[in-house]
Amino acid sequence: MNIFTQTRINDCVCDKKVDFEEVILNPGTSSRGLYTLENIPSVDFASIINYDYLELTKYIFRALNIDPESNTLEEALQCYKKFDNPLNPAPLVKIKENLYAQELYHGPTRAFKDMALQPFGVIFSKLANKKHKKYLILTATSGDTGPATLESFANRDNIFVVCLYPKGGTSDVQALQMTTQNAKNLKILGIEGNFDDAQSTLKSLLNDEGFKNTLEKKQIYLSAANSVNFGRIAFQIIYHIWGYLNLVKNNQINFGEEIFIVIPSGNFGNALGAFYAKMMGLPIKKIIVASNPNDILTQFIHTGIYNIQNKALIKSLSPAMDILRSSNIERVLFALFGAKRTTEWMNNLENTSCYKLTPHEHSLLQSYFLATSCDDKECLQTIKETFNIGYLSDPHTATGIKAAQELCHQTPAIICSTAEWSKFAPTVAKAILGKNLCDKEAIELLNQQAHIQIHSSINDLFSKPIIHTQTLDKDEIKSSILDWLK
Ligand SMILES: *Cc1c(COP(=O)(O)O)cnc(C)c1O
Repeated sequence: MNIFTQTRINDCVCDKKVDFEEVILNPGTSSRGLYTLENIPSVDFASIINYDYLELTKYIFRALNIDPESNTLEEALQCYKKFDNPLNPAPLVKIKENLYAQELYHGPTRAFKDMALQPFGVIFSKLANKKHKKYLILTATSGDTGPATLESFANRDNIFVVCLYPKGGTSDVQALQMTTQNAKNLKILGIEGNFDDAQSTLKSLLNDEGFKNTLEKKQIYLSAANSVNFGRIAFQIIYHIWGYLNLVKNNQINFGEEIFIVIPSGNFGNALGAFYAKMMGLPIKKIIVASNPNDILTQFIHTGIYNIQNKALIKSLSPAMDILRSSNIERVLFALFGAKRTTEWMNNLENTSCYKLTPHEHSLLQSYFLATSCDDKECLQTIKETFNIGYLSDPHTATGIKAAQELCHQTPAIICSTAEWSKFAPTVAKAILGKNLCDKEAIELLNQQAHIQIHSSINDLFSKPIIHTQTLDKDEIKSSILDWLK
């Protein structure tokens, strides 16, 4: 089993390097950095072109030396049976010449978070059972992580999940995906406030020693399933490789030909997966980072300066990418420049809200990444134009399509399609029909006027009973959780 290191220098005496199981169950580090792999191996992709999704996952996990014991991975990947096509959970769809969407949203909650959270849930629960421990998993969501986490952990032994979401801050479909969950081990709490309030409440609970001690007296341990957990990242490497190998299998490219991978990015988990694939030797010319009006990642890749001084978060039409501090970029910095530099930069970010690469460092970063941003007007226009040539995209995917059109030219490109349109129906209806509608009306009208089919899991939401109705103030959350666990 591979041993994980930390992205930041750890001057605490308890410097411990830990294995994958520990990283999954307890993602918090002693250095305030992230657990990460020390080395990324190179892989002979030509020899594995014909592997199926399970064989590919096993092969890559083995290459990274993070293969969990016995048949855990086989069991975990059974989750893809819940996807539209179990044999191809992440299919490619051709948009036009040289431009493909890899649809990562064919799982139960219709966003790409299922690709990793579904198998992650199985592995996490197996490990908890093996250790005879109970876990409380806390999560905060702006809309997609919450439903995917709940779906993954529903009815699992020894696991409780509390999900905090900003009341009124998600789409109706996203809210219903959470509030209609009826498994006994799940608790969904609306928070008065925005996503930042939900996130900061989560952080203060995770760091609350009193809360932790009270839980441990009940033999319950606190954990998080957020997107920095390497147990999720590992599964996000696989589909990028799968996409490339499928282009080869379908004779769209020759093996070895370089392609672009275009990624609508927020917390950079999806892009990190592609970065590792490129480090392993997958023929990726560049990873193209698509931003929305919150273009901090694009600015960083363009200038080598990460500067959030005087920056405020903008609410955009692609809310899952509304971000200022993008966590997983730290693992890229570690992989390219080591722990010492990463620690300096992260300290600078904490102290001055800014850090800078040298010109030499910046050019190394640019050898992996290109970037561009997309404002809301361009997003709506892209949805409409793409629909007119026969492809329906959600607002996040649209930022990727816009980026590909700007930067890819004659080179084949795979755009990660991160959500189904149905999760953001009002925006899609505005783009295509020019109307302002609520989720249900938008879905119905798109179905009638544009003949767009709706997946049953989304349609059924509107007739399910709502189980979770509680909305609380930030300071009522802790006692509410403890009450529930009684
Ligand atoms: C989470 C999410 C993203 C951003 O992914 P990161 O891995 O955080 O960069 C983009 N689009 C959708 C629809 C998402 O749910």
